[in-house]
Amino acid sequence: MEKKAAIGVDIGGGSVKFGLVTSSGRVLERGQFPTNPRGGKKLLFDQLVGQLRSLISGAEARRIKVAGVGLGAPGPIDVERGFVYFFPNIPGWKNTPIRAELERALRRPVFVDNDANGVALAEFLYGAGKGMRNLIALTLGTGVGGGLVLNGRLFHGEAFSAAEIGHIVLDEKGSRCSCGNRGCLETYVGSGYFTAKVRRRLAAGAKSILSRWLKEGRELTPRLVAEAAQKKDRFAILLWEETGERLGTALAGLANVLNPDRIILGGGIAQNGSMIFDPVIRTLRKKAFPIAARSVKVVPAALGPESGFIGAAAQVFVSNH
Ligand SMILES: [Zn+2]
Repeated sequence: MEKKAAIGVDIGGGSVKFGLVTSSGRVLERGQFPTNPRGGKKLLFDQLVGQLRSLISGAEARRIKVAGVGLGAPGPIDVERGFVYFFPNIPGWKNTPIRAELERALRRPVFVDNDANGVALAEFLYGAGKGMRNLIALTLGTGVGGGLVLNGRLFHGEAFSAAEIGHIVLDEKGSRCSCGNRGCLETYVGSGYFTAKVRRRLAAGAKSILSRWLKEGRELTPRLVAEAAQKKDRFAILLWEETGERLGTALAGLANVLNPDRIILGGGIAQNGSMIFDPVIRTLRKKAFPIAARSVKVVPAALGPESGFIGAAAQVFVSNH
């Protein structure tokens, strides 16, 4: 065997993405298949094992040694025991010792972690956080995924539930969050909450070019609101300001607590450039202690949608288990 690589698997709500990744973060092969929520646990497990077995034998035929498999999954995970409490969206995965099951099926060491931690690890090793020691990585999608690297290592907390940054409460009188609280960060920057807010305000009579676009049958997405803001639509501009300020407020608090050198923002909402980054950075500067504000840079994620499985694979290389 000449080369060494690991397999990373990113179990998402709609699909499972996976790849063969080197220890320097290079993706040698990639694949994906859709998750069928009605298929339950067995179907997904069998599909996954089938795909990974063929990836392993293909790699070995090319004289690439597969050192192990890293799995990134949403929801709460016991990282030490390799235990999934449940997968949101996929029934039947309650209290599953996924590491033991996969190790038996694949005869390779398996590591399991939360998907957002995987993204943080990937950005730390190969992306926007390379060379840093302390960073916060946020993925702003339907929900908010958070990961922390502190003193050069992923920080999991006592029961592996750390970095739930999306559920920092910003306004106790705010909208109801999926977690049951009101006014969590996620209710301001989660894409579903964001578009629901736009609809509510338009229905209440707000003036915006968006009303016309929606009548023309265009789909309401954060991207469309960004397009409106680019056309100097005041409603849309203010909405991005407000969203950036909420996010900046949460990040100012985190900067005071953790004093990171990078805050990395990825996911759909973060892909709107200065529209979101400007108010975030401005608010952070205003609200964080000057020394914390000076030492942190807020930057876009560098790795894109493959960072989930790249970070999952990286668990194999950094793990001390
Ligand atoms: Zn919440």
